[in-house]
Amino acid sequence: MRYESPVQLLLGTVPRIAFALSLFPVLAVAKIPQTCGPGVILKLSAPWSSQGGLLLLEVRSRKPLAEVTAEWNSKSVPFWQASAVARPASSRVAGVDVRRTILGVDLEKPPGTYPLLVHIQTASGKPESCTLQIPVRAGRFATERLHVEKEFVEPSSEQIKRANQERDKLRAIFDQVTPQKLWDGDFRIPLDGVTTGGNFGKRRVLNGQPGSPHSGVDFPSPTGTPIHAAQRGRVALAQELFFSGNTVIVDHGLGIYTFYGHLSEIDVKAGDEVESGQVLGKVGATGRVTGPHLHWGLTVERARVNPLQLVKLLGSKSHSDRGQ
Ligand SMILES: [Zn+2]
Repeated sequence: MRYESPVQLLLGTVPRIAFALSLFPVLAVAKIPQTCGPGVILKLSAPWSSQGGLLLLEVRSRKPLAEVTAEWNSKSVPFWQASAVARPASSRVAGVDVRRTILGVDLEKPPGTYPLLVHIQTASGKPESCTLQIPVRAGRFATERLHVEKEFVEPSSEQIKRANQERDKLRAIFDQVTPQKLWDGDFRIPLDGVTTGGNFGKRRVLNGQPGSPHSGVDFPSPTGTPIHAAQRGRVALAQELFFSGNTVIVDHGLGIYTFYGHLSEIDVKAGDEVESGQVLGKVGATGRVTGPHLHWGLTVERARVNPLQLVKLLGSKSHSDRGQ
C-alpha cells in the first residue's frame, strides 16, 4: 500500500501556522505522526526541513519489525534500534519496536518537495510501503566577502592537483557507511564552554570571486584550546590538508562524520577509537584561515549539514531513548 502524506496538505492549507513555526528552530516544531500499515507509526522531528538541515525519522511498531528500510536523496538510509519500550510504566505498550534514522539535507540541495520512501516488514504481517513528501526550504545564508592569500584563490597547478586529490579522498571517506552505530547519547559542541558558533552556509566571495559555500560552523578561539570529539567514533582521517590545514575526521557510524579543521596540533591518528569528549587536538590557524578558530563540519550520508542541529536533535531524542 502506498499513499501520500497529509503533511503536504497541512502545509498548503495553513500557511500562517507554517510561518509561525518558522520563527522557531526547525527541530522544535510539532511532531506529526503518520501511520504506515497496522500498528506502525512514522514520526518526523519536523514537517519540513531546509538546506543544511536534519530530520529525525522514527518508526514505532506495536509488533516486532523484521525489516525497515527507507530511501532519501536516492540513497538507502540506515536505521538504528531505539530502546524497545520508552514510556512510563503507566502507559507501557508491550512489544513496541522503535527504529530511528537521521535524514540530512545538503546545504546546496535545491529547495522543493522530495519523497521519503519507507518500507516496513513486520515479523507476521505483509510488507507496507509509504511515501512522505518532505518540503525543503531555502536556507537563509549570508554572503561573506573575504580577503585571503592569493595562492588560495588562484592556486598553482600543483596546488589544484593536491586539492582535487584531497577532495576525492574526503568524498571516498564520506561515501562509506559504517553499519554499526558507534555513538551513544548526545553530541556535544567540541569546545568547552561554547554554546554556539556561526557562518554555516555562508556564500563566500574570496577576493571578489564566488567560492563554495561554507560547509561548517566556525568557533573563533585562541590557538591551543583543546578540541573534544563530539561523540564516540573512529578516526577516519588525521592529517594536513590544503584548505582545512590540520584536519581530523571522526566516523560515528551510520554515515555520520564530524570534521575538525585548522588545528595547530593533532593528538590522534587514523584508526584510533575515540570516546565522546576525548581531545583530538588543539585550535589553530592552519590552512585557509583569517585567524585561529575551529571549523566544525558534519556530513550525514554525504549531505553537508549544520552540526549544531545534531546537538539539538539527538540531545532531546537520546533523552527519550532513556525512558521519557
Ligand atoms: Zn570554517
